[in-house]
Amino acid sequence: MRIAAAAGLTDTGRKRRRNEDAFVCRAPLFAVADGMGGAQAGEVASRLAAAAVSERAPDSSGEAVVAALVAEANRRVWQRSLEDMSHSGMGTTITVALADLAGGTIAIGHVGDSRAYLIRDGALEQLTEDHSLVAELVRRGRLSPEEAETHPQRSVITRALGTEPDVKVDLFTVEALPGDLFLLCSDGLTTMVPDAELLDLAAESRADLDAVARALVDAANAAGGEDNVTVVAFELEEGDAPAEEPAAADLEPAPAPEERTVQMRRHGAMPGGRLGAFAAIAGTGLAAVLLVWGLKR
Ligand code: MG
Repeated sequence: MRIAAAAGLTDTGRKRRRNEDAFVCRAPLFAVADGMGGAQAGEVASRLAAAAVSERAPDSSGEAVVAALVAEANRRVWQRSLEDMSHSGMGTTITVALADLAGGTIAIGHVGDSRAYLIRDGALEQLTEDHSLVAELVRRGRLSPEEAETHPQRSVITRALGTEPDVKVDLFTVEALPGDLFLLCSDGLTTMVPDAELLDLAAESRADLDAVARALVDAANAAGGEDNVTVVAFELEEGDAPAEEPAAADLEPAPAPEERTVQMRRHGAMPGGRLGAFAAIAGTGLAAVLLVWGLKR
């Protein structure tokens, strides 16, 4: 198996002044991170995390490698938040996919509400479970998926990278087949564009993954572009040796500093960026879930 093509694209969207998403598109490693925090901390968090996972091309694959990459990313974001008061409380989602081309598997590590999807045989499957308040409530039957879509707290995430010394990571492995198309995306796409439309758009421009990424970002913006939008797509094909590596789309360059007030208002966040509320979800095994405000509304 080899990577046939890969593409990554991020966009500020139509409502935000800054882009706090970051991505990695360096076959066989792919990732999306969606930062949160007051001032410019969200950008710092997502970029630190993306840089940490992509710093060295992993010479091996599998869940343990992904776990180590995510743990290192967590350590760096957490450490930075301790060192710099203005970054206190910052965090980020992260969704990492690492392909084992010889073994024909994709190891995925995931924290937060950025998603991984697999498109195979004309069907789209969401591989990750959102670590979000509304997703928890849907899983417990307390909220319908339709209610979740418009819930005012739909961007509240229950797990983030960098907000604690250690992070719990969802890790799993997917068997990959030639022709599989994997998508990693931030919630700025998935809250704007329904799954069925993602599938249609991906099918329409399937021959060109850059066009797929563009079409998805455009669709999110056409639907309102309420949040930063990020898509990473990669496709697998039959073949022994890895194909010539797709051009690495580097981390987005850090944008010029902007006034803080805009950032703060945009997030509706308290100074410091973390509201940090505890909420008990009744009838669950969870005594309390640390609600890290997604700051993404
Ligand atoms: Mg977002």
